[in-house]
Amino acid sequence: MKKVIFICSFMIFSGVVLAQDNPSTREMNLLNWMEFAEFVPDKIETVLLPVGTLEPHGVIPNGADNIAPERMAKVFAEPLNALIAPTLNYGVTGSLKAYPGAFAISEESYRGFVGDIITGLAENRFKNVIVLNGHGGPQTAILQSIANELSQELKVRILVINWWSVVSEDTFAVFGENGGHSGNNETAYIQAIVPEHIHKERYSGKEMTTPYPSGSTWSAYPFPSSIGLYEAGQGYPTFDEDQAQEYYERVNKRVLALIEDIITKWDLAKLYK
Ligand SMILES: [Zn+2]
Repeated sequence: MKKVIFICSFMIFSGVVLAQDNPSTREMNLLNWMEFAEFVPDKIETVLLPVGTLEPHGVIPNGADNIAPERMAKVFAEPLNALIAPTLNYGVTGSLKAYPGAFAISEESYRGFVGDIITGLAENRFKNVIVLNGHGGPQTAILQSIANELSQELKVRILVINWWSVVSEDTFAVFGENGGHSGNNETAYIQAIVPEHIHKERYSGKEMTTPYPSGSTWSAYPFPSSIGLYEAGQGYPTFDEDQAQEYYERVNKRVLALIEDIITKWDLAKLYK
């Protein structure tokens, strides 16, 4: 966690216990129920829920889709005055399910489980549920559909963010070309967080990559490479430390700005207030 400032939530002053502005931790896992009640919903309206999956990612960790949104949640919690819900590390893995170490939760189970988590967050009186999604494929559409249904049912605001799509402009700016699944972009973001788990020595080059098909020209199950390029000839991992750091900072800045903008506009429109 970057620049985490632990502030004691209570200050003893002249024998009186005064509530502070910040909780002792932003992580729901670490808060106790009494402190939770002091902050939610009166002082904290927003919760960040990182979701991902376990699937192969070239030469970076199988949990890249969990590591990225979990880190974003830690970086964003203070500026958004939000709490962080525990990460949902298992997801709906699609065409990469056959690779060693991958897990795939069925759509039916995932819908029910994620739905219950979001319902629980609403019951705990959060107004804004920010789902930080690290995994694409079928999971994106499922999350969007759950968010649409539950927002209306629970009268709660839900934002689903697919970070790699939001930051497409930054991918072009930093790498001068498009990215890919575990391509230059995702590899860089993860490299900035866990450089010790990036195994460049295992990268044998283009043979480890396959460009995604355009439209419905073909489809292969399993997908033949764990590095899928958005465009042929672009998006190969660079493993460059400076690019990784620059990309990491740009991604965090852009995703945070998007969340702030959406919450501001929800407030302006006085929706579900
Ligand atoms: Zn990924």
